[in-house]
Amino acid sequence: MIVVMKRDATPEQIEHMVQRVTSLGLKPHVLNGVERTVVAAIGAERDGLKESLETGPGVAEVMPILAPYKIASREMKSEPTIVKAGSLKVGGVRVGVIAGPCSVESEEQLLSAAVACKAAGATALRGGAFKPRTSPYSFQGLKEEGLKLLAAARDATGLAIVTEVLATEDVALVARYADVLQIGARNMQNYRLLEAVGKAGRPVLLKRGPCATMEELLLAAEYVLDAGEPNVMLCERGIRTFESHTRFTLPLASVAYLHAKTHLPVVVDPSHGTGHTYLVKQMAAASIAAGADGLILEVHPDPENAHSDGYQSLNFKQFEETMIVCRKVAEAVGRQL
Ligand code: PEP
Ligand code: MN
Repeated sequence: MIVVMKRDATPEQIEHMVQRVTSLGLKPHVLNGVERTVVAAIGAERDGLKESLETGPGVAEVMPILAPYKIASREMKSEPTIVKAGSLKVGGVRVGVIAGPCSVESEEQLLSAAVACKAAGATALRGGAFKPRTSPYSFQGLKEEGLKLLAAARDATGLAIVTEVLATEDVALVARYADVLQIGARNMQNYRLLEAVGKAGRPVLLKRGPCATMEELLLAAEYVLDAGEPNVMLCERGIRTFESHTRFTLPLASVAYLHAKTHLPVVVDPSHGTGHTYLVKQMAAASIAAGADGLILEVHPDPENAHSDGYQSLNFKQFEETMIVCRKVAEAVGRQL
């Protein structure tokens, strides 16, 4: 249920509603909107609940939330959520650009990528220190050493750090270095991990699982929101289909769909979404035209010799060209990049 408080509801009346919701065995979630305050009552609904909440002091209206995800829904919050993490701003008119290598490999590799990405317009640096690899024999990441290199690159450039956390036991460690915790596609439905990152006090970039529906993605986001973290970015990174000309199939309709259903910002990953360097620029531009609030792009000083995902990474010049096209598209659709 959503309890919409009157415009002139007092802090005491809002607090009263929070207590009332709690006493009914439901979890209160307060949202202070520009217009008015909403108190969501999350939990199993029962007969008479609506009527009971309606009688509270300062209450304007009580409505059921029809979507299965509650805190993530547009019904709960109509204004878009803007996620800020240091230099990164995603949502509203701003399009955030998270760029950098798939994996952190060395100080020189990461720092040169950070400097080049920033110069071309990136607003955050990506780089995996813990890598989820299909084969156990592939490069698994530099782990804490990689996190230290990311922190050093932030010190040198001022770029916020976005990096993946693979396991619940690593959340505290990764949160010590990162500005944004990335949940990878393979972990989208690792619910204990979602709860743990939701309590880590860092914004979260949640990637869509390659076999997950939009509803499953939104319910995964709900775990993070319910655990206490309001700053969640959803990431469309492509799904698995019968089609094999690209590594994954990148459905850009999900950007518009998600904007209709949720207030959370949507980031697109055309690198994993296509799996081919030569397709990334066009799909990055198309993502912005579709309304994406952010991009995450793999950029490497020497893609041919990358430890992971070189075949879909942009070199510095290609990234610069991509940013030039994206800026023009952003301007055409009333966004800033
Ligand atoms: C990555 O960002 O390098 C990554 C592993 O992405 P995904 O989880 O989308 O496969
Ligand atoms: Mn990658």
